[in-house]
Amino acid sequence: MANKIRVATTSLAGCFGCHMSFLDLDERLVALAELVEFDRSPLTDIEHCSSTCDIGLIEGGVCNSENVHVLREFRKNCKILVAVGACAINGGLPAMRNSFSLEECLLEAYRDGIGVENAQIPSDPELPLLLDKVRPIHEVVKIDYFLPGCPPSADVFWSFLSDLLEGREPNLANELIHFD
Ligand code: SF4
Repeated sequence: MANKIRVATTSLAGCFGCHMSFLDLDERLVALAELVEFDRSPLTDIEHCSSTCDIGLIEGGVCNSENVHVLREFRKNCKILVAVGACAINGGLPAMRNSFSLEECLLEAYRDGIGVENAQIPSDPELPLLLDKVRPIHEVVKIDYFLPGCPPSADVFWSFLSDLLEGREPNLANELIHFD
């Protein structure tokens, strides 16, 4: 089919659970593949958007400088940007570290935590710098839609994408909206 809708996906500070839930579309993925072409995504192993994408699905919040860079690149390359899941929407589980200073987190993880041996805080310049707090993605770029849930169910993805692909304003049924 010509002119398929281009979809990109990525995970920032997330656990890939939202991507796993997307794959729970199961046989509906076959129907989706008739209409959609996946661009940059862990599903395709394409590392940069090859052209402007119609829809960008972002899992995870923003915890380091690389997340900021990837998120801005997605915003630049995607006409519609979607915050997928609790981590993208409000920081989710990774944002539990926001109750502590970054220094406290690093010391607990690399020096003082149970089972730590050869204590040393990583300082390789190749590593992305951690932000002081984990941020929801709407604090960094404009987001067009939010899909709640941890993770959003496959039915949420299906309803949302079906609406968009058929030119309707997405409208999730109440029973699909949950925050756990
Ligand atoms: S919202 Fe839940 S499933 Fe999705 S990345 Fe965050 S922790 Fe994982």
